[in-house]
Amino acid sequence: MATDEASTSLSLKTANLGFPRMGQQRELKFALEDYWTGKCTEEQLQNVAGQLRQSHWELQKTAGIDFIPSNDFSLYDQVLDMLVLLGATPERFGTDTVTLPRYFAMARNSREQTAMEMTKWFDTNYHYLVPEWSEGLSFKINSAKLLGEVREARALGIETRPVLIGPLTLLLLGKGVDAFDPFTVTDRLIPAYQAVLAELAAENVEWVQMDEPILATDLPEGAAEIFRKAYAAFALSPVKLMLTTYFERLGDNLPLAIAAHTAGLHVDAVRAPEQIEEVIDALHPDQVLSVGCVDGRNIWLTDFSAADAMLRQAARKLGQARVIAAPSCSLLHVPHTLRGETQLPARMRGWLRFAEEKLAELTALATGDPAAAAENAAAIQDRAAAESSTNAAVRAQLHALKASDFTRSSAYPERARVQRDQLRLPLFPTTTIGSFPQTSEVRKHRAAHKHGHETAGQYETFLREATAQCIRQQEAIGLDVLVHGEFERNDMVEYFAEFLEGFAFTQNGWVQSYGSRCVKPPVIFGDVSRPRAMTVEWSRYAQSLTERPVKGMLTGPITILQWSFPRNDIPRQQIAWQIALALRDEVQDLEAAGIRIIQVDEPALREGLPLRRADWAAYLEWAVQAFRLATSGVRDETQIHTHMCYCEFEDVLPSIAALDADVISMEAARSRMELLDAFREHGYPNEIGPGVYDIHSPRVPSVEEMHELLRLAARVLKPGQLWVNPDCGLKTRKWPETIAALTNLCAAAERLREEA
Ligand code: GLN
Ligand code: ZN
Repeated sequence: MATDEASTSLSLKTANLGFPRMGQQRELKFALEDYWTGKCTEEQLQNVAGQLRQSHWELQKTAGIDFIPSNDFSLYDQVLDMLVLLGATPERFGTDTVTLPRYFAMARNSREQTAMEMTKWFDTNYHYLVPEWSEGLSFKINSAKLLGEVREARALGIETRPVLIGPLTLLLLGKGVDAFDPFTVTDRLIPAYQAVLAELAAENVEWVQMDEPILATDLPEGAAEIFRKAYAAFALSPVKLMLTTYFERLGDNLPLAIAAHTAGLHVDAVRAPEQIEEVIDALHPDQVLSVGCVDGRNIWLTDFSAADAMLRQAARKLGQARVIAAPSCSLLHVPHTLRGETQLPARMRGWLRFAEEKLAELTALATGDPAAAAENAAAIQDRAAAESSTNAAVRAQLHALKASDFTRSSAYPERARVQRDQLRLPLFPTTTIGSFPQTSEVRKHRAAHKHGHETAGQYETFLREATAQCIRQQEAIGLDVLVHGEFERNDMVEYFAEFLEGFAFTQNGWVQSYGSRCVKPPVIFGDVSRPRAMTVEWSRYAQSLTERPVKGMLTGPITILQWSFPRNDIPRQQIAWQIALALRDEVQDLEAAGIRIIQVDEPALREGLPLRRADWAAYLEWAVQAFRLATSGVRDETQIHTHMCYCEFEDVLPSIAALDADVISMEAARSRMELLDAFREHGYPNEIGPGVYDIHSPRVPSVEEMHELLRLAARVLKPGQLWVNPDCGLKTRKWPETIAALTNLCAAAERLREEA
């Protein structure tokens, strides 16, 4: 092989797997919300959507992308769209044609019906609507949207590669209704897909992107058989399939993916670069390989030298005609464009690439453009050399950590004794999770302050009054452990990130979370440190207003990591521990300020779990250590709480116990305390507050209802182990229902005490 190989030109094709839908200024979000509130018509909404599709196709075309996706657009969710296409929308919403009002009725709660369940799309922060499999689904296909988009693009002179979610992924992401076995729909599902492929063939569509990210996970028993059956059937279609996998390695599913013998295979070479060689060797001689070499999950520039080497390796073995350069996954998970980010330091902009800029990276990589490669090398070098990214003191501190930094000075039973003496709480203490209603008044003041219509002093005065009122209200209700209410916080992560070094903020770096909802994750670009206290003044102030203990309230290291765009030049473990060190200082400052109870929320601990079970233990190990590092520096009498929003604990319970929080609160009302059985079986030793008030609904639970739940819990737990609290924070609730529900909650606890 010639030594100057890296400088010879390449001529690979490029593909994109999906483009962000919202628009550069979140036009889709605003059009959707206007439509829902009756401020615009269906036609106006569709116009906005059509314009967005057109501009996104055109910019992909202009960027020089060869395979441009269609049907990646959605008015709400691509999984719901797939169900509409296949005639498999949940039976409970009726089986006639899906009009737009009916589409949104399935997606969003209404007075008549609860919406479809929503859950996280693999390990992303995107939420999809969960398919509901049942006997009576019609499977009458409705290809209007799919073919509509293909034709719409053609009218613009753009040939697209439509995106479908593959049958195995769709099936396994759904749930059976009333114990219905989802696998039994297979025999109707596969023909429905075949009918869709037939329509695409009739439309002369050459390629389809068939997404099967489920192949990057551990498959349940019976799944492989379904996959084989489906793809054997699809092989009869003249449409070429790009079997598209992402978010992890194929691992033991590689033979299955290869055996499907689709025209092409896409793999995620960012998450799993190590699998490339094995995949290349496994391919059939007529198969095309799509190399996902530009990160679709993060916002950093690609290291061209690594990506180029990978593409050339593939090209050498397969021939250039059989290699496509692509993003690792759909660009749905990154913001639209870096243009307009005028407030980021110019130097840092050079290190970032959003969706549009990633397309430019792809075309540069596909041609092996030497000028682009040189520019890239310089930017990579600049980022590595940036002094703003490294903090020697933090590095030294991490390096010097010892086992005792991760452990409280006494074991829980001893701490519990001291805490009981000091805190003097009643049996079954009552508390809340942290936030109280973020009323329109709170939001109005925050916006006024942000836009300079209100001075910092005025805003502060307002927040102090809101906090004082909240304390008085909690005392009147009769809660035992109070909170300050979190009125000063816009968000659980951004609020902290703004205090910390190592974080940067975009103006418009929005990413779709679900429906019209977008999040703007902070960017962790450097070593994290805490130049000054973040929450101490608010906690001290709140505590000064009452004799009862007020909880200090922090967001945990894993949650801050998970809900940010993390740097990719050091391991996630190190980032988490740096954040933990910063939080540790905050925890100690709170303690020094007289705060006796400190809650460190970790709602994202579970969602950080790797997709493959084999990788869980390593993650849980450092994630638990991060929490312990943040919370172990306090005296025995300081009580550490944590909160998690979910109740699927069984498989991670040993790790939850290993957090060694004195008290954990979590969601439990809807599942009627079922989770506690797992806690008992595990012999979970510390205190627990299983939520008795479902805060997702405005409904006020009665004393009887909550008392009943508490009795269920008391049956499973030891007395002294049980706390009484809602499922989660109250920020989305209104004051009247909050007061009524918490008053009932305290009465229910009192009733339980009388029986004890
Ligand atoms: N303390 C936060 C609140 O009450 C916790 C929110 C969460 O767990 N997502 O809002
Ligand atoms: Zn919660």
